[in-house]
Amino acid sequence: MKNIALTIVLLSPVANLQAGTTDSVQTAEGVLKITPVTHGSLMLEYKGKVIHIDPWCRGDYTGLPKADLILITDIHGDHLDPAQVKKLKKSGTQVVAPQAVAQTVTEVLVLQNGQKKVVAGLQIEAVAMYNHKRGPSPGKLYHDKGRGNGYVVTLGDKRVYISGDTACISEMKALTDIDIAFVTMNLPYTMPPEEAAECVKAFKPRIVYPYHYRGSDLNVFTRALEAHPDIEVRLRDWY
Ligand code: ZN
Repeated sequence: MKNIALTIVLLSPVANLQAGTTDSVQTAEGVLKITPVTHGSLMLEYKGKVIHIDPWCRGDYTGLPKADLILITDIHGDHLDPAQVKKLKKSGTQVVAPQAVAQTVTEVLVLQNGQKKVVAGLQIEAVAMYNHKRGPSPGKLYHDKGRGNGYVVTLGDKRVYISGDTACISEMKALTDIDIAFVTMNLPYTMPPEEAAECVKAFKPRIVYPYHYRGSDLNVFTRALEAHPDIEVRLRDWY
């Protein structure tokens, strides 16, 4: 068994990948807890409030609390799962999503790219997410500009950015004062790790988590940011 374990460690493409962890980040008004769930899905807990982002049935939600706030980024099945949204709803749960999602999950508060609103007592800002070129066929994109939302959520003195499925777009590069960023990378749908690293270098979050990274070599991402000790890269168990 020892040898097998060692082999797995040696063959592992990513060092320091911590499975099954919930991270804590201190804010001026209490602890922010971050729980990776699966792929593009995660949970944030802050001052007794539970925020589920893109809840998807492929994740293990056993024991996780229901949501005060659900943020949905886009219409694709790994982000929009109406049955999982329903399971995590309780009385008073608010759901924020772009208009395209509101056609499927009807009880939502629609935010368009660039709009801000206080929801469940938290400031939420919708940020664009889209492809420049990548798409299923010539002239088509996986993510059209204006359809989906990334989000910046303000939690006390911390600004948390969730990219959604996107290339390195000017709107991401222009973000300021981001403390914690969840940045997508996977081909062909979003961007390769080197492009994600270039974008991260532009907006300089204090902590960055690669997420929604299926098929990406995260070592490429961490190596590209090695010369930037002001940006802490945290590798956790999404896929
Ligand atoms: Zn996706």
